[in-house]
Amino acid sequence: MQIEVLPLAPEQMKQKVADETQLGFGRLFTDRMLLVEWTADKGWHNARIKPYEPFMLDPATTVLHYAQEIFEGLKAYKWDDGRIALFRPEMNARRFNQSASRMCMPEVPEELFLDGIDKLVELEKDWIPSAPGTAMYIRPAMIAVDPYLGVKPGDHYYFFVILSPVGAYYAAGFNPVSILVEDKYVRSVAGGTGDAKTGGNYASSLKAGLEAKKKGFDQVLWLDGKERRYIEEVGAMNMFFAYGNHIVTAPLTGSILSGITRESVLRLAIELGCTVEERLIDVDELFADLRNGKVTEAFGSGTAAVVTPVGTLGYKDEALQVGDGGVGAITQKLYDALTGIQTGKLDDRYGWIRI
Ligand code: PMP
Repeated sequence: MQIEVLPLAPEQMKQKVADETQLGFGRLFTDRMLLVEWTADKGWHNARIKPYEPFMLDPATTVLHYAQEIFEGLKAYKWDDGRIALFRPEMNARRFNQSASRMCMPEVPEELFLDGIDKLVELEKDWIPSAPGTAMYIRPAMIAVDPYLGVKPGDHYYFFVILSPVGAYYAAGFNPVSILVEDKYVRSVAGGTGDAKTGGNYASSLKAGLEAKKKGFDQVLWLDGKERRYIEEVGAMNMFFAYGNHIVTAPLTGSILSGITRESVLRLAIELGCTVEERLIDVDELFADLRNGKVTEAFGSGTAAVVTPVGTLGYKDEALQVGDGGVGAITQKLYDALTGIQTGKLDDRYGWIRI
């Protein structure tokens, strides 16, 4: 599909941040956005890259009431030689369409998803920071925009992509986080929307997050919604536990998001000489194994921070340190391997990079 590029007036160009250590995450957006429309009669049409600006939405718009919405998150990296690299964007395109299908939304042709991102990132390349650890966060999303209060799938959608230059997550080195296993609220159930990247999953997780913060923990680790017994995932990360060189993570049973970093970690861990296992992780067994020192490392995986070491795990009234509470050797090696490939410093042996 032809993507039209609309002109950008000088007054629509924003000031770039000179000090890349001040970027933070997700508050600053570039000058342009991609917008494509879908209607029941025309399908996808009117693809354009236009100045970044607010949407004008009727107060009755479907997405504002019934949350018919999906999104994705990926990053573009500026390499030392000036080239711009995307990390496994085809996987985001595929997951986006799986989310679309679950939420009764039209699928976006993979070519449109990828071409749209390529063109937008190319036009906005001067916004991509280059300091170590920084990147351009890419946020594709789709919303139902019909002004209608009946509960039904929309007939009119916006697929849009916005870009946000983001700072280094670990500017001052790794910061192991503390995580509380949630035993009151649940994030998702089998047959629900847990494996779709849809806004409602995140809205419904806010309360548990706030309560965990009050107890002094950084984030929540969800249990399965039925038995409240098996470890699922953290708010925006999949979870891994190392028993020496054996790494375990929860299986994709439909209630957790199929993380692209998770899939990459599973492959790289084998390369590092680890054995990997996707299996149900019983929370009581996990805590017994933490107490007796069998669990040597715990870490999360996700686009935002790539790999996040977990220093403390809490459950009910107990808080246990993982290993020595610092950064485990495997966690560090996986972080180095992944960020090395993403930034072009290590060979892209799996073909994960799109230039
Ligand atoms: N789980 C959830 C709920 C998430 O929002 C994310 C972030 N997309 C992840 C896991 C990690 O997925 P990925 O590695 O693709 O970023």
